[in-house]
Amino acid sequence: MAPTIRDIKVICTAPEGINLVVVKVETSEPGLYGLGCATFAYRHLTVQHLIETYLRPLLIGKDVRNISDLWQLMHQNAYWRCGPIVNNAISGVDMALWDIKGKMANMPVYDLFGGKMRAGVPVYRHVDGADVDEICENIEKYRSIGVRHIRCQCGGYGGGGFGPAPEWAAKGAEPGVYLDSKKYMRDTLKLFDGIRAKEGFDIDLVHDVHERIHPTEAVTFVKEMEPYKLFFMEDVVPLEQVEWLDKIKQTSVTPLSQGELFNNPEAGAEPQYRLHARASEPGGRHHPGPQAADVLRTVRCAHLLARPRRYEPAGPCSQHPHRSGRSESGPAGVERHRTAQPRHPEAEGVRRRRLCLRQRQARPRCGSG
Ligand SMILES: [Mg+2]
Repeated sequence: MAPTIRDIKVICTAPEGINLVVVKVETSEPGLYGLGCATFAYRHLTVQHLIETYLRPLLIGKDVRNISDLWQLMHQNAYWRCGPIVNNAISGVDMALWDIKGKMANMPVYDLFGGKMRAGVPVYRHVDGADVDEICENIEKYRSIGVRHIRCQCGGYGGGGFGPAPEWAAKGAEPGVYLDSKKYMRDTLKLFDGIRAKEGFDIDLVHDVHERIHPTEAVTFVKEMEPYKLFFMEDVVPLEQVEWLDKIKQTSVTPLSQGELFNNPEAGAEPQYRLHARASEPGGRHHPGPQAADVLRTVRCAHLLARPRRYEPAGPCSQHPHRSGRSESGPAGVERHRTAQPRHPEAEGVRRRRLCLRQRQARPRCGSG
């Protein structure tokens, strides 16, 4: 008899002060359970409430094997769909169900999705600091353990954090996040000038604008950052202004990463702008809660660079944009990707042969008499 969902539990935890939400789906089969991530750090109790109050009674007794059906049930049951809270709740359950399916099949879940396409993907680590010296010191710590991609910020994302209103703010302005965008851009250019001078170009650097500048400023700023050859710039425009990405792409070759705020694939930006993936995103914070399999397929296959890029089965489509024509090696399983190839030569040969064969078959034969 197929196992059914016996119970769903939500475990809230906060290591290092960050609110995480873990979903545990227990089954009727003793010892068989699955775990999923439903983390929405800023609204974790709302996600917990949704799962415990609405999804749990909806799913208890259901066959754990029917993940697609259960996903549709969760997605459509409230009639109004999507949003980060419901997406995270659904995704946490969805992931736990896939975990169960993997255990039932005695396979890693990626085998159920079609198997590995690469041994590892590049990851970046985050470095902050008060000035170039401190940032470079922190970069060196990561370089010493083999990290080759580092996101550098000075004083927080987009150049500033929460605090009292600055002098130039309106009289009576409340504390908040204030940004002098022109100063921020000047300082950031200076910062990367200093980092490249100290660290050279043999390391991939990333910077997160965090959607804090005007799109017209973004056009110029991305162009001005070109000499520092970033691995990518993150979130240069806000969600509501992604149409500016086209203009930015036309004026700069700096790779862009965008999309952590998207949460609905149907109503929002074009797919090519969903570029930014983190380990947590299949959890649904930024994706609309398509099943984990769909999200992973998206991450695996498509649209990971802001500039037009063809998906190549024989080449890498890593989690973050990377330069083609470059081979890297790093810590095993962490930072390796293969050199992009326009098309696998053997596959190309097969394609040509098949084409020739089809043409021959289609060609009218000459009769012998
Ligand atoms: Mg960001």
